[in-house]
Amino acid sequence: MSSDNPCLTCGACCAYFRVSFYWGEIHGDFLVPESLTEPINLSRMAMQGTNQADPRCIALEGEVGGCVSCSIYTNRPSPCREFEAFDEEGACNRARVAYGLPPLEVAPIAA
Ligand code: SF4
Repeated sequence: MSSDNPCLTCGACCAYFRVSFYWGEIHGDFLVPESLTEPINLSRMAMQGTNQADPRCIALEGEVGGCVSCSIYTNRPSPCREFEAFDEEGACNRARVAYGLPPLEVAPIAA
């Protein structure tokens, strides 16, 4: 089965940014697995591996630029749920370019 979803062959954002979120997400509806997180301060957590100089989320499976997946996809934290490919601020493409991947073109606005 093939897919046009560029996120399935990228993963750069999961190995480029610090993924931090409100502490309550390890106890709320999404239930991010606490064992894969680390505290940043009294109210915020980070996915393990992302709060360091050379980040890579502990939940990322596969190699950036290859076949990738998130091992906690249905329980991923809010920054991951809200992060968008084709974002106007270019965060997605900053991560892609850092890994030598071609930038995605901005998605056309529906008429
Ligand atoms: S939790 Fe999943 S989607 Fe979020 S950074 Fe980690 S691997 Fe990527």
